[in-house]
Amino acid sequence: MTSLYIHVPFCLRKCPYCDFFSLPLNASQLEGFPQLVIAHLEQERHRDRWQGPFSTVFFGGGTPSLLPPRAVGLILQHADRLFGLSRDAEISLEANPGTVTAGKLLGYHGAGINRLSFGVQSLNDRSLARLGRIHSAAEARLAFRWARQAGFDNVGCDLIFALPDQPPKAPWPILNPSFSLARSIFPVTAWASSPKPPLPARWKRGTCNRRPRRSMPKVSCCCMND
Ligand code: SF4
Repeated sequence: MTSLYIHVPFCLRKCPYCDFFSLPLNASQLEGFPQLVIAHLEQERHRDRWQGPFSTVFFGGGTPSLLPPRAVGLILQHADRLFGLSRDAEISLEANPGTVTAGKLLGYHGAGINRLSFGVQSLNDRSLARLGRIHSAAEARLAFRWARQAGFDNVGCDLIFALPDQPPKAPWPILNPSFSLARSIFPVTAWASSPKPPLPARWKRGTCNRRPRRSMPKVSCCCMND
């Protein structure tokens, strides 16, 4: 099985807790990004190191949903030309709810994306603001609805639980019933503050627990199928 991961290293704004590699959005770099990926794929093809076809393709980041759908489609076309895509390939894109519209999600679906992973993180506006996220809880719900309307039946949402101002309990209560959970995957990450990111100091000056909680529930992922 061969998989392709494409890291889209741009974000509108750096979330203070984030350790992933990302750069501030630069419009001309973003515009040139698909051609760089395609050139790299061409190079790898000539090296003959991989056996196609790809069973999975994952656009991660950073914020891949800053790419316009036609750029995503172009990369996929060339990946198919150079290595092939399995007929049942899972082709995922990470999306920040603050960067999508109904039309854009429709465009991704048309470009060949068949799974979305939304960086929701929380359905509490106060927590979202403290996490430095650019979206609100309402925008996350709307993005989820748009995804369903665009034809995505496989949608995931990343969630963070046990934030410093939340009790260290399992995250199920934050899965708001307004989400349609059929065929949805919710990877959930326990907040474990490290001294490195600047957020803990900002969280609630003087009251943030910088150590991982001892009574943290051992939950890393939940899947909901109908
Ligand atoms: S949007 Fe995602 S990748 Fe970008 S800084 Fe925030 S958490 Fe990190």
